[in-house]
Amino acid sequence: MKTALITGITGQDGSFLAEFLLDRGYKVFGLARRESWMRANNASHLADRITVLFGDMSEGIDIATALQEAKPDEIYNLASQSRPGESWARAPETLMINGMGAIRLFEAVRHAFPKARVYHASSSEMFGGAKTIPQSEETPFHPANPYAAAKVYAHHMVRICRESYGLFISSGILFNHESERRPLHFVTQKIAYGAACAALGITNSLDLNERGQPIVSGGRLALGNLDIARDWGHAIDFVRAMWLMLQHEKPDDFVVGTGKLHTLRDLCRAAYGRVGLNWEDHVVSDPGLVRPLETGQTLADPSKARKILGWEPTISFEEMVGKMVDTQIERLEPQIRR
Ligand code: NAP
Repeated sequence: MKTALITGITGQDGSFLAEFLLDRGYKVFGLARRESWMRANNASHLADRITVLFGDMSEGIDIATALQEAKPDEIYNLASQSRPGESWARAPETLMINGMGAIRLFEAVRHAFPKARVYHASSSEMFGGAKTIPQSEETPFHPANPYAAAKVYAHHMVRICRESYGLFISSGILFNHESERRPLHFVTQKIAYGAACAALGITNSLDLNERGQPIVSGGRLALGNLDIARDWGHAIDFVRAMWLMLQHEKPDDFVVGTGKLHTLRDLCRAAYGRVGLNWEDHVVSDPGLVRPLETGQTLADPSKARKILGWEPTISFEEMVGKMVDTQIERLEPQIRR
């Protein structure tokens, strides 16, 4: 039986990956911050099937102890301050977790478990304002926010540790992937939530946005720049790519994305369309919500992952958005019955 350690087990990807590995007979350990594990989280339903180790990526001793406890064959480093927008306000903390946390982990692996295989979560945000579309493993990085800059640092450290110490560390340059488990502060989930509210006739939502106001107010969902275009896939497909990287004979970097570009308008159309509504009657663009420096058009060229790993996405954009809207309706329905 193989053993895996997942950092960021309470997150979207961590929880899907844990399910994926359990289905394949792995013994799964997860690193989680104590206070996060104590409240309901994405992996709560797995509590009796996994071993949770408490720790923080900003503490080297926590990482080293987790490795000693788990003695993993495979390590998936998913823990991160994962909100690019939020990273403007929390730049030092973002670097501490996403950059320093990663190198602490790599160092601990080098000293204690040099034979372990490590997956590291890089991000398409590293391409930022890249001039080349689509982006592949060869496209130069041009990070446009503190989150992306910290990810670039860790990404380079992956290669340096590979080349200097011969460690098996692979980076997944993953493009946006969403799911029913995305937190409400991500724009994709806000749109799914907005569509669900509209379908249920909720004009002033109980859930609040970053500004402490109802996400849906006066029957309207306020968003920033609607022309933003991204390559969005479903997280279930993307955790499979992580695992495939560690089954490959040698460590490497792989771009993972659907290769299809959609704008926020497309996302709104799909979400409100799911419940038979016209998004333009329910969504407004608010200039106050536009980021200081917006990441440009990120579109994956996943040919290398297709060719070498045999990876293909299986869940379409429309299916993904549909699942998200349906889940929000299920979540909100009890509220309107009260
Ligand atoms: P997520 O849902 O936000 O999960 C992030 C995880 O990191 C959570 O479990 C969080 O735990 C944990 N974490 C944050 N700070 C920590 C700390 N100081 N110590 C220990 N754990 C900490 O993110 P995700 O969507 O699953 O993404 C997984 C990884 O892929 C991240 O590294 C993200 O940056 C990267 N990525 C994601 C996407 C995407 O579209 N989803 C795209 C490219 C790359 P708490 O519950 O305690 O907050």
